[in-house]
Amino acid sequence: MNIILLGPPGAGKGTQAQRLVDERGMVQLSTGDMLRAAVKAETPIGLKAKAVMAAGELVSDEIVSGIIGDALDALPTEAGVIFDGYPRTEAQALSLDTILNARGRKLHHVIELDVDEDALVERIVGRFTCAKCGEGYHDRFKQPKVAGTCDKCGSTEFKRRPDDNEDTVRTRMAEYRAKTAPILPIYEARGIVTRVDGMADMDVVSATIAKVLDS
Ligand code: ADP
Ligand code: ADP
Ligand code: ZN
Repeated sequence: MNIILLGPPGAGKGTQAQRLVDERGMVQLSTGDMLRAAVKAETPIGLKAKAVMAAGELVSDEIVSGIIGDALDALPTEAGVIFDGYPRTEAQALSLDTILNARGRKLHHVIELDVDEDALVERIVGRFTCAKCGEGYHDRFKQPKVAGTCDKCGSTEFKRRPDDNEDTVRTRMAEYRAKTAPILPIYEARGIVTRVDGMADMDVVSATIAKVLDS
């Protein structure tokens, strides 16, 4: 099964993708994570993407679709994929169709995480992750069970994204509204979109998504 998690920054895409990976053995393909890895490694793509990401704008369609095609080619054909943060523009949505067709894959569900914009800034500025395993946390909504220690791997090092500040979030939200939300009708026309209340408790969101995937 291949699915898209769609929603503005802070909607809970990464959180829910991680749970699907843990619970169902699906593979998460996050263009944001892959771009951050490229920036860190100072690859040619990373060098191009760095300033664009820092500003909260969108990296070019060619770059992200290229990354997604390569990532799919590196996976076993039977792996179920969660597209997290891709596609984000109409051009990317069309590329994804081509990319999936060429590999004999199908898109089964698009889960739209519906959230209240006012809550997003708080979610984003409070977000942090384990520096070692990447587990996601939040200052207010999801503290580690033992303060300062990752629940999953025991690491005591955490990090915050440089673009997780209020100014950049506003730009990212505007990009979502202008370029990403308009791709929903493409998938609605195929009858594969389910809108899920992303303001609910994380466990409730997970249970709702599970129901959709098992239906
Ligand atoms: P996205 O990948 O869509 O940008 P994340 O999954 O990283 O969003 O979530 C953003 C922040 O909000 C994280 O710190 C996460 O712990 C927190 N969060 C995610 N889902 C919820 C929820 N349903 N309720 C409260 N906080 C949440
Ligand atoms: P969030 O979790 O807040 O939704 P991401 O981690 O998905 O953010 O993306 C971080 C940044 O990486 C974006 O602001 C953008 O600059 C870039 N990016 C990620 N995915 C894409 C994409 N599909 N198309 C263009 N730019 C992208
Ligand atoms: Zn960890």
